[in-house]
Amino acid sequence: MATVTFDHMYKRYSEDVVAVNDLNLEIGDGEFICLVGPSGCGKTTALRCVAGLEDISDGRLLIGDKVVNNMAPKDRDIAMVFQSYALYPHMTVYDNLAFGLKLRKMAKDEIDRRVREGAEILGLDKYLDRKPRALSGGQRQRVALGRAIVREPSVFLMDEPLSNLDAKLRVQTRAEIARLHQRLGTTTIYVTHDQVEAMTMGDRIAVMRDGILQQVGTPQQLYDHPVNVFVAGFIGSPAMNFASTRTDGSDLVFGGHRLVLGGEQARVVAQRPAGAEVLIGFRPEHLEIANGQDSAVRFKAAVDVVEYLGNDELIHAMSEGHEVVALIPSSHRVTVGSQIEFAIPMDKLHIFDPGSEKALAA
Ligand code: ATP
Repeated sequence: MATVTFDHMYKRYSEDVVAVNDLNLEIGDGEFICLVGPSGCGKTTALRCVAGLEDISDGRLLIGDKVVNNMAPKDRDIAMVFQSYALYPHMTVYDNLAFGLKLRKMAKDEIDRRVREGAEILGLDKYLDRKPRALSGGQRQRVALGRAIVREPSVFLMDEPLSNLDAKLRVQTRAEIARLHQRLGTTTIYVTHDQVEAMTMGDRIAVMRDGILQQVGTPQQLYDHPVNVFVAGFIGSPAMNFASTRTDGSDLVFGGHRLVLGGEQARVVAQRPAGAEVLIGFRPEHLEIANGQDSAVRFKAAVDVVEYLGNDELIHAMSEGHEVVALIPSSHRVTVGSQIEFAIPMDKLHIFDPGSEKALAA
């Protein structure tokens, strides 16, 4: 196993396309890290640099304590799993698993041991004689994973390996990859645009945007303490609500509502000029129906859509010209057209500078 270190790493495709911009990130030995962000943010490029499929423009990339900037892919002791399974259609599962090892001129006995062990881990033992076309999508993806496992590499690199699977299979395979990681403990870099995948699988998550790393932390750190509006809106589902407010002393004014803050947030807001704009953020699942809670900020809203989800309801309401989405237990029986008063527990309110979009107080 090994650590992977991005040290001020840049990847420029041209003067104006900087796919990865000064990336600094240390991935621990045995860690499962998710690189996440919207399309074009540079996550695949960062992964391809680790694989040696792209040259690095500047900075250093280390696997373990070795600088690998100029090391050939085959010498890096990594194995990559792609979104397209890239299996050889004319070969059996056994031969697909064995192929990379044969190329390396490994002894037949050792190849056989690794293929059978890998197939056992992934539940592919029954399919070793089949060709890929006789397998389901999920089984094919398991063969692709198996091909990486039999290499027994120091680092797994996975690029959206679940995106060709349907929703149910994706959830199952997600759990399988997590189990696999628990069993093998191999350092894994997993690229996805799906924040739910990142939240459920990663020991840590690195959020990227426009080639720049925004924040790295455990799923809970990112959920509880996003450093900026982008991370706050990207992590969590349904997405965080945002609304514009104005300062008044240590309070915020949201249309006709006064939001009375406390603690660090009140202190930070009081330092701003009176009437300055502050962006507030609050997650749908943190909104409650007001019932006299003390340590909460409150505001009224008009309900225009109610989506019944079983245990909960997703409420879409308008307040001071902003759409607000709330996830509320169905037992409240909120009705379309009604006026409700929402409460947000004080410690669940996020505040951001509208210019820099940085969190003002976590
Ligand atoms: P996606 O999820 O869509 O794959 P991504 O976050 O993985 O997106 P990258 O594929 O890393 O993003 O691309 C980052 C940026 O680099 C994009 O602006 C992309 O257009 C650009 N880019 C990627 N590959 C090349 C290339 N070979 N030549 C020029 N520009 C490229």
